[in-house]
Amino acid sequence: MRLADRYSNLQPSGMMKIFQAVDKMDGVINLGIGEPDFDTEHDIVDAAAAAGKDGFTHYPPLPGYIDVREAVCAYWKRHHSLESTPEEVLFTSGGMQSPHLAMQALLNLGDEVILIEPYFGPYSAQVEGCGAVPVRVETKEENGFAPTASDLEKAVTPRTKALLLNTPNNPTGRVYPRERMEKIAAIAKKHDLFVMSDEIYESLVYRGVHVPFASLPGMRERTLTMAGMSKSHCMTGWRVGYAIGPAELIKIMVVIASAQTFGVNSLAQKASAYALTNHDAKLKERKNIFASRMQYVASRLNEMKNVKCAEAEGAFYLFPSVKGTGLKSEEFVWKLLENSRVASIPGPAFGASGEGFIRIACTRSMDELTQAMDRMEAFCKSL
Ligand code: PLP
Repeated sequence: MRLADRYSNLQPSGMMKIFQAVDKMDGVINLGIGEPDFDTEHDIVDAAAAAGKDGFTHYPPLPGYIDVREAVCAYWKRHHSLESTPEEVLFTSGGMQSPHLAMQALLNLGDEVILIEPYFGPYSAQVEGCGAVPVRVETKEENGFAPTASDLEKAVTPRTKALLLNTPNNPTGRVYPRERMEKIAAIAKKHDLFVMSDEIYESLVYRGVHVPFASLPGMRERTLTMAGMSKSHCMTGWRVGYAIGPAELIKIMVVIASAQTFGVNSLAQKASAYALTNHDAKLKERKNIFASRMQYVASRLNEMKNVKCAEAEGAFYLFPSVKGTGLKSEEFVWKLLENSRVASIPGPAFGASGEGFIRIACTRSMDELTQAMDRMEAFCKSL
């Protein structure tokens, strides 16, 4: 067998290395995991089982069942005042499939896509998979890890086709304020850029509000809103997500998906429609739980020697600075894991702008978070 050259030197990612080490260790409190620790609510599971018994066991319509797409439109209108029609919605296999399909639909060889650091790792492989070029824009903590207009302007070239945004952000947990989004929108308009806006953490905002990029004036026709069920409804294992965008683009994405997955699991779609329609109270409940965990962890981090952490804004991540310890992020994370059995992710796993920071996911119970913070506090004191 001769594998493709592009896979001949495959290395585990920074995050993968940590998880592989954690698997071999006992007693680790893993704050590296980017998924809610809550199981899917049982009535959502029941909705899937009921759909199965009602005969939804066949190939689904390629873009998704109409009631499921209507549920997406209603959810975004109710929560974020974003108007859309079912023709503008595609149900996908996990949130991950949306950027992949959109890039396949939009990018020609050599086109450039702006990625804002620090960013969710898989984006760059998706860009490169289309023969396009990721152009990384560094950001700074003092700007909330959001790009300034001049940072973006400098990155734009005649080959720039698209821009990938993610707010609330993984890994920083920061939420872009409206004014910053408006500046980005002005640049998108000026240079005719398409915007892939990853808003998968839309339901987890603790400070300010979530502004869908597509809701800004003139942006709807040049934005794909990408989200899903994984984080909001604790449905990571169901692998369901969706994209909302111009019908012309959605049509092409459907054609590409039909050659890949041929639609999304029928039962998971029906369960998602149920969840999107009936679980607003649960969303609020879980948001409050994450908010108290994040506030607690941020305040504990700020009491630690040489650690500084911004207030929780969104998602379930904190991105404290460990620069004061004099250790590089990677060194800090590995020492913390080996000496104190607390797992976190080094900031540079998300791009060079992450140097000096670590990602902490508040996806453990309050008891475990307390223990983890006790261990980390002792570790920092010992440095
Ligand atoms: N986008 C971001 C920013 C994420 O953090 C994740 C998952 O961690 C995804 C997309 C993918 O979500 P899914 O598990 O639904 O594919």
